[in-house]
Amino acid sequence: MLDGYNRTTNMVLEVLKDPRIQLLNFSVSVYRFQPHDYARLAIEILRGNVNAEFDRNETSTAGYNPQEDTLYFGFKTLKFIEYKAAIVHECTHAICDMRGMKLMDQTASEMAAYIAQYMFLAAYIPKSKRAAQRFNLGGENNIGDISRAAWRIAHSYLCQNDPHKKELAPGFGTDADYADLANAIRKSNLYKHKADKMVGYNGV
Ligand SMILES: [Zn+2]
Repeated sequence: MLDGYNRTTNMVLEVLKDPRIQLLNFSVSVYRFQPHDYARLAIEILRGNVNAEFDRNETSTAGYNPQEDTLYFGFKTLKFIEYKAAIVHECTHAICDMRGMKLMDQTASEMAAYIAQYMFLAAYIPKSKRAAQRFNLGGENNIGDISRAAWRIAHSYLCQNDPHKKELAPGFGTDADYADLANAIRKSNLYKHKADKMVGYNGV
C-alpha cells in the first residue's frame, strides 16, 4: 500500500497494476487503447493530475468527471471483480480525457469503456460460455444488450491477442457487434439523452 493517498486512490492504483491490464489492447473507430495508456494514467494519478474519490451518492456505482479530472466510486472495496471492472471502465474515460480526445462523443466513449470493462472481466473468467451467461444480465437501462455486445467484442480481442486462442472466437467482434453495442448505448436510459454529444475531454 502506498502512503499519502486516500483509500480510493490506492484502490484505483491497485487495479491499474493488475496483470490483466496488459491485455487491454483494442480500438473503437479511430481511437486505439493500449496497456501503456493505463500505466500513464497511474502516473497522472500519482502526480495528482487525476483524482479518485469515494462518493456515497454515486448512484450508478461509478463515474468520471472530465471537468474536475476526478473519478468517483460508490464502493470502498475490491472484493468483487465487478468493482475492479467498474474501475477499469472509469479509468478508460479518464484516459480519453488525459489524451485530450476532444471530438469523442458519448457513444464512442462508452463503447471504449465497456469493451475495456468486459475484456478485464472476461480475462478473469476465461470460460467463454460461463462468462457469457454471467454477463448477459438483462434488466434495467438496456445494460443486458450493452453487456452482451461488449462481451462479444471483448472475447474476440482476447482471443485475437492470444495465439493459443485465435480460433476460439468465430463470428465474434464483427461490425455487427460494434453496431449492436453503439445502438444499445444510444437506446439506454443512462445515455440516450446525450449519446451524440461530445463528452468534453479537455486534458488533465
Ligand atoms: Zn461510462
